[in-house]
Amino acid sequence: MELSTLTFLHEIFRDVQQKQDWKTALDTLFVSLRGSFIFDNVAIYLEDPQTTALEVAYARAVGRGKTAEADAAWGIALSQEVIKNGKMVLMEPPLDPTHADRMTSTTLLGFPLFIGSKISGALVFIRFGGPEYTELHIQIASLQAFWAAALIERRDLQKARAELDSVQRQMRLQDDFVSTISHELRTPLGFIKGYSTSLLRQDTVWDDATQREFLNIIDEEADRLAHLIEDMLESARLQSNTLQFKFSPVRMDSLLRDVTVRMNALHPELKINFDSLPIPSIQGDGMRLAQVFDNLFSNAIKYAPDSEINITIRAIGDKIRIAFADSGEGIPADYLPFIFERFYRVPGERTVTGTGLGLYICKQIIKAHHGNIWVDSILGEGTTFNIELPIEQPVDQSL
Ligand code: ATP
Ligand code: MG
Repeated sequence: MELSTLTFLHEIFRDVQQKQDWKTALDTLFVSLRGSFIFDNVAIYLEDPQTTALEVAYARAVGRGKTAEADAAWGIALSQEVIKNGKMVLMEPPLDPTHADRMTSTTLLGFPLFIGSKISGALVFIRFGGPEYTELHIQIASLQAFWAAALIERRDLQKARAELDSVQRQMRLQDDFVSTISHELRTPLGFIKGYSTSLLRQDTVWDDATQREFLNIIDEEADRLAHLIEDMLESARLQSNTLQFKFSPVRMDSLLRDVTVRMNALHPELKINFDSLPIPSIQGDGMRLAQVFDNLFSNAIKYAPDSEINITIRAIGDKIRIAFADSGEGIPADYLPFIFERFYRVPGERTVTGTGLGLYICKQIIKAHHGNIWVDSILGEGTTFNIELPIEQPVDQSL
């Protein structure tokens, strides 16, 4: 083998290897070798492990004709043959002594894709017209098939690793949760027990004002405990899909106004700016939707104290968009992708209590409404929660 050939292959290998995304890596591979092996379209068909049906995982046109992944059905039959036989299949146009049809006829070349010793699919090249493929061409194409299989294996490993990371994170969160929850349960219980024991002491007489104060604390802490237990049950029900939703027409502007009035009664110092244009109703569970905003308010009060809250409601296309913004400290970008996860709390020194369930519950409720919730946050500037809900389909009155 020539040194120049080795150097050439080495460079391609390096370029392909550097691409993080497997499809970009395949693009690089096919384009780099196209000078040595001519084809018009290439596609990769992978077997679904459950159904064994073939799916187009990758398709690219470099010459004549376009090959979108959606319409790369042209290689399916050949792939099935390649997978069945476990070896290369070359389909050349029938020999034509006049060579008249050569430029319009098609050649198909397919290779099995081995992951370990198992065939997981096939790689198929198609060429419109042109001379016959030589032994060298077939060797180059076969090299590309080996390479493609390695890239697919890398993709599968990356996917498995991401899943593993997510499971590990979830397990860590569960561990943290056990310690958080025992603290969260013990604190209100400690207050309730402490103040009721004090009130019951035979040797002390409390004046009326002190008695009321103690009873108020007991009452508030019992509420906190009830709320916490309700959140835990709710999140368990949401996770097991056993929470019932009762849908009926809901006006989001009135719902939010009610929540706002209730919040202001509890926190008179809270400044809430409300900006709503007329909007149509949606199909929703009013109680659950109100719970979403209760949680957002609770977070704003805890994590953006002293900040004003700006609520904007608009109808955009066939959706209602609600923005719920505070101008607190914000959330560091690194943590943003996780805040809707069950039990997740942004790490760091904490003085405020919580279990990391609030936003998880919000997300599940919005999902049950076929909506979407996401967060934008800028450190030092504030946090905005955005919610999109589909507008109710108009009922056909003529029915
Ligand atoms: P819980 O709601 O169960 O009492 P929590 O408030 O910690 O507990 P979430 O409501 O799910 O849990 O919020 C997750 C995390 O996101 C919080 O711990 C907090 O760090 C961060 N966060 C939520 N809202 C805001 C906000 N408005 N500003 C800054 N950080 C926020
Ligand atoms: Mg919360």
